[in-house]
Amino acid sequence: MAQKNYKKIPQNVNFASLEQEIIDFWKANHSFEKSIDQRPLENVYTFYDGPPFITGSPHHGSLLPSIAKDVIPRFWTMKGKRVRRVWGWDCHGLPTENKVEEKLGLKTKKDIETIGIRRYIDECYAYVKNVSQEWEWYIDHIGRWVDFNNSYKTMDLKYMESVMWAFSQLYKKDLIYKSRRTSLYCPRCATPLSNFEIAMDNSYRMVEDPAISIKFKLTDSDAFILAWTTTPWTLPGNLALAIDQDQDYVKVDLNGEHLILAKSRLDSVLTGQNYRVIEEFKGSKLVGKSYEPLYRFFETGPNDYKIYNADLVSMEEGTGVVHIAPGFGDEDFNLGKLLNLSIIDHVDDEGKIIDQVAPFAGLFVKKADPVVIEELTSRHLLFKVEKITHSYPFCYRCGTPLIYKSQTAWYLRVSQLKPGMKETNEAINWIPDHIKHGRFGQGIETAPDWCLSRSRYWASPIPVWECSCGFRFVPESIQELETKSGQKITNLHKPEIDEVVVKCHQCGKDIHRVPEVLDCWFESGSMPYAQIHYPFENKEQFNKEFPADYIIEYIAQTRGWFYTLHVLANGLFGSASFKNCIVTGVIMGTDGRKMSKLYKNYPDPKMILQKYGAEALRLYFMGSVVMIGENINIDEKEIEDKVKNILLPLWNSFKYFLTYAQLNEWIPKREVIKSTNVLDLWILNKVNEFSQNFEQALTAYQIPNAVRLVQPFIEDLSRWYIRQSRDRFVNGDIDALQTLWLVLVQYSKTTAPLIPFITEYFWQTLVVPFDPKASESIHLESYPLVTTLNTSLSEAMGLVRQICEQGNMARKTQGISTRQPLASINVKTTNPNLLTSDLVNIIKNELNVKSVKVESADHLTVDLDTILTPDLIAEGDFRDLVRNIQVERKKMDMTLKDRIIVYAPDWPKTFESEILAKTQAESIRKADTFYITKV
Ligand SMILES: [Zn+2]
Ligand SMILES: [Zn+2]
Repeated sequence: MAQKNYKKIPQNVNFASLEQEIIDFWKANHSFEKSIDQRPLENVYTFYDGPPFITGSPHHGSLLPSIAKDVIPRFWTMKGKRVRRVWGWDCHGLPTENKVEEKLGLKTKKDIETIGIRRYIDECYAYVKNVSQEWEWYIDHIGRWVDFNNSYKTMDLKYMESVMWAFSQLYKKDLIYKSRRTSLYCPRCATPLSNFEIAMDNSYRMVEDPAISIKFKLTDSDAFILAWTTTPWTLPGNLALAIDQDQDYVKVDLNGEHLILAKSRLDSVLTGQNYRVIEEFKGSKLVGKSYEPLYRFFETGPNDYKIYNADLVSMEEGTGVVHIAPGFGDEDFNLGKLLNLSIIDHVDDEGKIIDQVAPFAGLFVKKADPVVIEELTSRHLLFKVEKITHSYPFCYRCGTPLIYKSQTAWYLRVSQLKPGMKETNEAINWIPDHIKHGRFGQGIETAPDWCLSRSRYWASPIPVWECSCGFRFVPESIQELETKSGQKITNLHKPEIDEVVVKCHQCGKDIHRVPEVLDCWFESGSMPYAQIHYPFENKEQFNKEFPADYIIEYIAQTRGWFYTLHVLANGLFGSASFKNCIVTGVIMGTDGRKMSKLYKNYPDPKMILQKYGAEALRLYFMGSVVMIGENINIDEKEIEDKVKNILLPLWNSFKYFLTYAQLNEWIPKREVIKSTNVLDLWILNKVNEFSQNFEQALTAYQIPNAVRLVQPFIEDLSRWYIRQSRDRFVNGDIDALQTLWLVLVQYSKTTAPLIPFITEYFWQTLVVPFDPKASESIHLESYPLVTTLNTSLSEAMGLVRQICEQGNMARKTQGISTRQPLASINVKTTNPNLLTSDLVNIIKNELNVKSVKVESADHLTVDLDTILTPDLIAEGDFRDLVRNIQVERKKMDMTLKDRIIVYAPDWPKTFESEILAKTQAESIRKADTFYITKV
């Protein structure tokens, strides 16, 4: 090896600036690109990047998965795999649209149409471009290696073509259908939403609503039947009443008026009222009776305004009679379909009551509630108004209360895919594993068909051209669409796509695309093929890379991205989409609430990266239970602790090595000398043990288990190995220097995926200058391969440390200074054979005893002989004096070369020559007090 010097390292380390130096080094040397290119094409490991919504700047919740998206791919790269990592952006959908609306001051869908869809779409493009630039600084400074420049975007033409292909394939398999159904609907965004979107971030809140009982007059008598609802605004849509035919109902007389309700609800509905039961009967007696409608704004059919039996009737609340409005509720809609009722939809796209319903026209549904109550009161049809507090869904983007609304939409037949989805879920390795049959498995069980269409703008189109004769054209490629339309297609977005006209195959009419666009979750779920424009390009690559080896996101994605990946992969390929999936918890604010700028309850991520550096944050996040699905409250103190307890001791061990390597002019040699020193053997074995355990934990995707090993190992190294070997380093012992070098290098390679900066720095200092064959970056190296471990040496040193700990404790409790030599120590242990003479010497040194007696027993005991002979006292005094002299020298800023004269009232004469030798003193003279002078 070439004779070179160690590079100069800073006296006081600043981790953030050290990291900046490494970031620049990687960029200048294209280290990331090389880490992929240098690995064989056929040895692929696939990672899918879950595209973040392109909104705002990154926060802790987006940095956490980003770090984990770096650790595992770096690890597999060092294990020889080729790990392509390309950034992705989820550009479409409400998140972007709402930001653009905010910017342009648009309040409703009509406002958008007023400024023009062209202008609106252009603003969406511009927004995406600005935001993506903000992220780059963070990605660099958390140390994430990812191809940012070639990021795929869900708005790219190629991406959208693959999405169109996926839709057409599912359509051809009869997995997509159009249907009028009710679903959750945001009146502000004027679009249906899917159940899982609402479930994802827990968009339910407790709210207070009116709960009213209304009188419906029976046509065949003068009695009223009492029905109950918490949504008065739906009453103009009432078409039926539902009862339970097996329950008992009663007719009562209240102040001369006859009312019908469930017997078991009497007490709560008529509390404190002076009523009389006239008649009692089974609900079946009511079935088929007609009643007078509350309103007559619409034409209706022969089955409407009747009483029906239904199993949705509860005896826990209300009157035991349920008001049915098939336009506004899932159960109502299904019942309406079953009974062949009409559908009244008296609410427009923006959640306002339509003009036909004159008394409430133009009112937003929730605002109509009190007006409906007032109007019914004036006609003496309202029986009772109460308040109810219940959980109610809100739009996750704009916060508007959602309603159930029936409309025509496109659905994916999840019901049909369920058996396959359950089966392919079995093979997925979930971390934590309870997700498999818990959140994810149960999510599959209960999943409704997926409402795929949105009545919005900035999205992939629903690629269906529909004719009034019933014919549909669903192209699977741009080329097919070009052939059929004779038009050149360069953009699949609105408004361009809506100008594409094709001829109907059946009747020859010109036909247009349906107005809806696609749920953006369909697009993120399509990323495995759409990111590489499959099947139009990269077929072979896709076959090799699908399904992914690894993905990671937070727990809500069990209802979001994890779910849509799984549905679509099963629908298209009959396969799971990923093999290993880490599910993180949520990082909450310091006070346990959601992190919010308003509450100021979290440390700014940029400040954290600039103050402590990325590696402290990486150690904190990756070592935390948030990596196994649990929530944590962010704690800056813990980040600081990672610097204090891990990074600084590690840095100091590195610095310690450099100090003595340079003092003794030792440089790394290729031929490794085999040390026989027991401490060397022990720490080398220890680092092997560390590498093996660390590797096993990462292979199992148990990242916190790997991180947990780091601090104990650094303590072994600095507090035991280096401390016990000080004299050898001072004396330039080659075995010790080489051992420490080997340990630091292997440690660095092992932890490089976790703490990529400091390990790169060590590599550049300890290896690269001396070995022309070394990789130019540690991340281009191979992961350390450990074959054999010496478990009995580990065990023996463990025993030594236990004995020393107990011995030191005994000294402390008896108030005997560590510098006072003692005659002996008596050790009884179950395993006396472990204590070889080398190890006994370590005990002697550490505990400052003249001899160690080892005896066999059934448990460990340590007895110090504390009798002090005059000789032992003299030796103790000698050691105290030497120490005092050294302290004094240091105080007077003297170097080891400065000669001195020592003055003292007394000193052990038998040790005089040793005192002079140990302290570079010329002589020692009697004086009243202790002091030293320079010669
Ligand atoms: Zn909304
Ligand atoms: Zn036609």
